This record gives sequence, structure tokens and C-alpha cells, in this order.
Amino acid sequence: LWYNINRLKEVIRIPEIVEVQVQVDGLQRILGQKIRKVQVNEDSTRLLNVHPETFQACLEGSTIDQIWRTGKYIVWELGKDLEKSKSGKKEQQWQYLVTHLIMTGGYMVNKLHPHERIIYELSRDTLYYGDKRKWSHVNLFDTDELKFHFKKANLGIDTLMANKLEIEKEMVEKIYQRKYMNKAIKEILLDQTVISGLGNIYVAEVLHHANIHPLDTPGHLSWGDLETISESIKYIIPLAYSVRGSSIKDYTDTSGEGGGFAKLIKVYGKAGQICKTCNCQNIHVVVIKGRKSFFCPYCQPRR
Ligand SMILES: [Zn+2]
Repeated sequence: LWYNINRLKEVIRIPEIVEVQVQVDGLQRILGQKIRKVQVNEDSTRLLNVHPETFQACLEGSTIDQIWRTGKYIVWELGKDLEKSKSGKKEQQWQYLVTHLIMTGGYMVNKLHPHERIIYELSRDTLYYGDKRKWSHVNLFDTDELKFHFKKANLGIDTLMANKLEIEKEMVEKIYQRKYMNKAIKEILLDQTVISGLGNIYVAEVLHHANIHPLDTPGHLSWGDLETISESIKYIIPLAYSVRGSSIKDYTDTSGEGGGFAKLIKVYGKAGQICKTCNCQNIHVVVIKGRKSFFCPYCQPRR
């Protein structure tokens, strides 16, 4: 088939900030291309915020002018060839396509997705959007809706883009507020309004690297501890990005290989196994706000 001839792009289905950025990097290939045809599978209309026919009418004939990431959202800015556009007035206003992959959403360029939901025929490539569980969101927004959406999301500083000092400053300002004082640091770091982009995998690895127990609270953590956590964020996140993210469950790249970070994981998902940092204790797991939190009791003692 023709799409096998083209260079294949990868997809990742465990999207934390790193994996979303890897998707955005892969999508730069479609920048400037025109959307010729859009096909939404009948069982997948709930992913959209508009009627599928409206979705098609708005997108067909548009060009993809910009692609970027804000937090875990992938934003396309759309340009329209007004003369050739099939769409009515309302559709003209929608300039942004915002995708949140949630858990199993993902784009593939020129490669069929095993759980295909939306197909975009572009001027040069075919883009497949898939989502095994159908929990992801593919929304059309106008400028006001986009602003409102991100204002509401109130995302904290971006852990991939910000430097260590910026992250440290943000954490010191936010974490010592009364509302966080008795919360577990694990829970606070997962809160995207404090700092954005850390999910369950990377929080576990960051706290292990920083020798901080996931249940410690800001009341027990010094500025020095927050500095150490910032350093660990800026060690773990760029490391994960450099190996193109994590593959824990079903992620493979187009050559059938997983992202490199799985091999570098020290604690996440390793309950009962010997800690490779100290070689003297087994990894423990506690449930914090319904999420499993892995740690080594020797390397990460309670404060
Ligand atoms: Zn250990």
C-alpha cells in the first residue's frame, strides 16, 4: 500500500508532557499542508465538541498554519482559503483544533492506527488519529474559546520548557500556601495548576531521584528540598525527552520499538522489586488520592 512507502512517524499512547511534545515534534511534518478530506468514524463522534458534519465542513479546505503544545494539549492553528471554503459563517470563526490525548489518543502520519477514529487526508500526507478507549478530546475552538479554555485550565509553569530556577521559584511561591500545607508532595506535583506536565510516572521518578518520600508535606519540606525536587525535574524530564518518552503498555514507535525511558525507570511499576539505587530495599507502593505511588523507603525516608 502507498502509505508504507512513506517515511513512518511514531505514536505514543502514554501521554505525559514529554510524550505529547514528541507527538508535536512528529506533527511538524504536516505543517503548512491543506486538509483535503476528513473522515470521522461513526463510533467516535463523542470525541468531538461539534457535530461531525460541522467538524468536516470546518476543517476541509483549511491549512494547518501552526502546531504547538500547551501543557498536555496539542493545538493546531488553522488558516482558511476563504474563496474556496465550503463552510458557513460560524465555521469561519473556528481557528483552532485542540487535542487532548487523555490516555490512549495518538496521531500517526502515513501509518494506520490500530484504533483509528479520525482520518485527515492532507495535501501530501495522511494523518490517522486513533484512540483505543475513546476518552480523548478533539475540539474546535475560536479565539475566545481557546483563551477561556486555557484560562480555566490555569496551567502552572511548563516543566519541559522552564529552567530549574523558574520551576523552583514557582514551587516556593505556590507550595507553601495554606491549601497545600497538609497535602502529600506527590499529589501537589500532579496538580497541573502548580507546575504543569508531570504525570504519575515522572512524579515517581522525580521524587526518587530527589530522595523525597511521596507522602511528605510542604510543612516538612525545606526550600532546599524544593530546590532538590526542581533539580530532579530538570534531570528526569529532559532525560525522558532525549529518549523520546516512556513506553509502559502498548506504545511502540513505527519500527516496533518502545520509547527509551522504560529502561531507565527506577521505581514506577516496580513494587516488590529490589531498589537499584541502594540495592538494599524493595520498592514500596502507597495509594495517594487513588493513584499508585512507588518509592524506596531507604532512599526516600519520611522527613
Ligand atoms: Zn533505594
